[in-house]
Amino acid sequence: MKTLFTNIKELLQIRDANTDVIKGLNMNYMPKIENAYLVVEHNLIHSYGKMDECPTDIENILDCSGKMIFPTWCDSHTHIVFAKSREEEFLMKIEGKSYEDIANAGGGILNSARKIHETSEEELFQSASERLHRLIKQGTGAIEIKSGYGLSTEAELKMLRVIKRLNEAFPIPIKATFLGAHSYPQQYKNNHEAYIKLIIDEMIPKIASEKLAEYIDVFCEDGFFSTIETDRILQAGIKNGLKPKIHANQLNISGGVQVGVKNNAISVDHLECMDDEAISNLKNSNTIATLLPSCSFFLGIPFAPARALMENNIPVALASDYNPGSTPSGNMSFLFSLACIKLKMRPNEALNALTINGAHAMELEYKLGSITKNKLANFIITKEIPSLTYIPYSFGENCIESVYINGNIYN
Ligand SMILES: [Zn+2]
Repeated sequence: MKTLFTNIKELLQIRDANTDVIKGLNMNYMPKIENAYLVVEHNLIHSYGKMDECPTDIENILDCSGKMIFPTWCDSHTHIVFAKSREEEFLMKIEGKSYEDIANAGGGILNSARKIHETSEEELFQSASERLHRLIKQGTGAIEIKSGYGLSTEAELKMLRVIKRLNEAFPIPIKATFLGAHSYPQQYKNNHEAYIKLIIDEMIPKIASEKLAEYIDVFCEDGFFSTIETDRILQAGIKNGLKPKIHANQLNISGGVQVGVKNNAISVDHLECMDDEAISNLKNSNTIATLLPSCSFFLGIPFAPARALMENNIPVALASDYNPGSTPSGNMSFLFSLACIKLKMRPNEALNALTINGAHAMELEYKLGSITKNKLANFIITKEIPSLTYIPYSFGENCIESVYINGNIYN
């Protein structure tokens, strides 16, 4: 059955089927049709064009006067499988407690890790399902989810099995990333080498043989995993068919970008701390720069230099980093505002980063991220708004009227 959407004020992000990742200043171009129609057949985009060429033989019609349509958000970096929120740490931070105080009171990643051990697979699935349902209602139409709160073979596998079940239960594409190298568990505090061996010799082969993840991630930062350790872990992942996609340069100029590029990472994510060397390294690579401004906002740390990256012709994607510690939100409309206000990205640049480049950062560009014939009919219909710029400008306001997934309205 076909559905016809008529009188669309602006149909945005119209691209050819083989559109490459959008780089640098080209990100300010947003292909669109004003006063447009869109036809959806089954789960796919069938056709589109100007209203004066609108087909007349379709019965099921939805009038979109005054409203915009663009692809759903592609959120390429999240940690939405977790046992419990950590708002007690939020309160401690407000009251001026240090990171050490919080860790001593049982906070931080190790807090999440302990709770994962105490929580059943079913409970984890239920709580992540609730989060994911909420995110789709807010316009997310594809998502990547990481493990990394297990930090033992059994618990990492449990997290990845939950991600697999989410993928089977939900109508949007979900990509799984193994992040065993997120932190060192308590019992390996003084023996990092033994934990790295556990990741390389036991976790990676098991995960690969059960096909529980497509990507491998490492938290490459001073005090966590060094560039040499990151390289070893990525190499082991690659040998087992896992593709790198890593946390880099959040807290320090750590060399994380370079080790990601060396291993042909799909993306290097965070990049709050960058220097000329890291930028020129990225510039001469196929790796996407994925920025996570919600994390900078919540922690009060510097924002990534989005403009310098774009001026160097680097493709930028934006993702939420939704996690219980540093970014307890997956709201992509708010992220859109932060990208414009804090990263100084123009609305067109941010929309490219949130859709087609996010799709590339999950290798889903062949079926999502743009309004393209035969791509999945995953798109957002806005309320009646004056312009695209109004969405990031009116931060905190919900400009989304409805979300379509596989051609059906999502409730
Ligand atoms: Zn993250």
